[in-house]
Amino acid sequence: MASSHTVLMRLVASAYSIAQKAGTIVRHVIAEGDLGIVEKTSATDLQTKADRLVQMSICSSLARKFPKLTIIGEEDLPPEEVDQELIEDGQWEEILKQPCPSQYSAIKEEDLVVWVDPLDGTKEYTEGLLDNVTVLIGIAYEGKAIAGIINQPYYNYQAGPDAVLGRTIWGVLGLGAFGFQLKEVPAGKHIITTTRSHSNKLVTDCVTAMNPDDVLRVGGAGNKIIQLIEGKASAYVFASPGCKKWDTCAPEVILHAVGGKLTDIHGNALQYNKEVKHMNSAGVLATLRNYDYYASRVPESVKNALVP
Ligand code: AMP
Ligand code: MG
Ligand code: MG
Repeated sequence: MASSHTVLMRLVASAYSIAQKAGTIVRHVIAEGDLGIVEKTSATDLQTKADRLVQMSICSSLARKFPKLTIIGEEDLPPEEVDQELIEDGQWEEILKQPCPSQYSAIKEEDLVVWVDPLDGTKEYTEGLLDNVTVLIGIAYEGKAIAGIINQPYYNYQAGPDAVLGRTIWGVLGLGAFGFQLKEVPAGKHIITTTRSHSNKLVTDCVTAMNPDDVLRVGGAGNKIIQLIEGKASAYVFASPGCKKWDTCAPEVILHAVGGKLTDIHGNALQYNKEVKHMNSAGVLATLRNYDYYASRVPESVKNALVP
């Protein structure tokens, strides 16, 4: 049966259900107790069984429903038959009730690129810092990030045994972002959030130059954007290569949908077309408000060291 909904809204509604399924897989792997940790490029660049299973689940579920999409996932996995149990076929009906922004209503499936980080914050996941972990599905059109879904599998895990675990945040440019309460850091406070596991001298030089009242060091790009939109941090500063397009695509949309701004450390917008290089070589600078305050304080020495 032909659907009256646009391709974009059907994709977002499916990706929402797929991200929720991903959250259950992330929790299940911890509950089973065998993380199956593999080192990729270094001891701080890890892959677990959850990264592998979730990527298979997300990419196969999307490809079945939307065979013409370009899907780019973080993990390099051998081609293999995906277990039927990993496939999610649902779509979140609440999203289908929303109008598609008119500028996206004629988008075709083959025009969309989906950036998948099956588990963002893997290092922290292996260390039990579970609320740092997110699952990221970002959707790009003509090189621009336009829709995103973030599942946080362990949202609420410190609230006691009766708390409902996990939540899903989603957004589309021109429509808004949903699944959380927007909050701002008190005016005049400069709270920087930055990497916990991938720091170096450039990162700390840049953070220090912002003259912060406080510095939070936490895992995950998704987690840090959630801190910005929930009033826990005022700027996400990462003056280093290391973060990739699948880390920033979905979080960028959520931030932009509520009036924030994410760029590289020079102030350039990030591009998400399928040919783009994966690495965000010139780092990340993101704020909900007062972007110019932080951008103006990035030292020239830091800029010179980070070539886009
Ligand atoms: P972090 O803020 O350290 O959690 O980094 C955000 C995202 O970028 C995570 O997905 C990290 O794995 C990735 N990342 C940042 N720096 C590096 C690095 N030096 N090597 C590998 N991945 C990195
Ligand atoms: Mg990541
Ligand atoms: Mg990852």
